[in-house]
Amino acid sequence: MMLPLNNIPPALILVGDTTSIFSAVITYLQQLFCTRSSCSTCSTCLLIQQQQFYAATWLSTDKHYTLDDLDIIFSTTAYTLQEQGKHFFIINSADLLTPACSNSLLKMVEEPPVGYHFIFLTSRLSAILPTIRSRCTVITLITTSNSVSTHALFTCFANQKSLPLTDFLKILDQDATHEHEALLIIDALIAHWYAKYQKAITESKIQEAQRAQKIILVFQQALAKPPMPGSSKIFWRTLYLTFNHLL
Ligand SMILES: [Zn+2]
Repeated sequence: MMLPLNNIPPALILVGDTTSIFSAVITYLQQLFCTRSSCSTCSTCLLIQQQQFYAATWLSTDKHYTLDDLDIIFSTTAYTLQEQGKHFFIINSADLLTPACSNSLLKMVEEPPVGYHFIFLTSRLSAILPTIRSRCTVITLITTSNSVSTHALFTCFANQKSLPLTDFLKILDQDATHEHEALLIIDALIAHWYAKYQKAITESKIQEAQRAQKIILVFQQALAKPPMPGSSKIFWRTLYLTFNHLL
């Protein structure tokens, strides 16, 4: 999926595996700042690649973010940018923002000072606080062939057209998904349907938006009660019946 080059939203959430989202952000910034059509060789492109570019502040953590980690955002945005100026905050592993951190960012994310933008990176959309999520445009990267989005079970739940139950059960029979993979698949499905939801809202397709919302709720409930060892098949079957009912 393309990242918006015009009308850049104040806040984006990019969902995907770490490598893909990283390279997507680099390419995106190069497209926005390089004057030689994201050549990837000029000094601007190289500085972006090395996370040294002046107009992009990268935040990372290996445990949880602390409020101190976010100070840089508030001290940077205290400066008014030059006209047409842009500055990006890229927050790696945004699922590691604590509720306190997320809350401290809400106002900023909703209405950043002119020219400032946020990009939250995560592999798990459902681990981002809903208060942040609802203020962001969510973009899911469809990534490499062995990724979740090509998983047979993902495909069964990704489309509006329903599969007959017998066909689904055949797929389920051949499936050897481990219980912990189920969580990843459902996470990806939430992101997938969230993108559909946002698209429907933009296009004023209220019914579609409402349906997507209900489907997301079903997946969120499933996440709250993940399959126990040995109960994977029952889990997916129940989920499919509930999902199918909403289509
Ligand atoms: Zn360049």
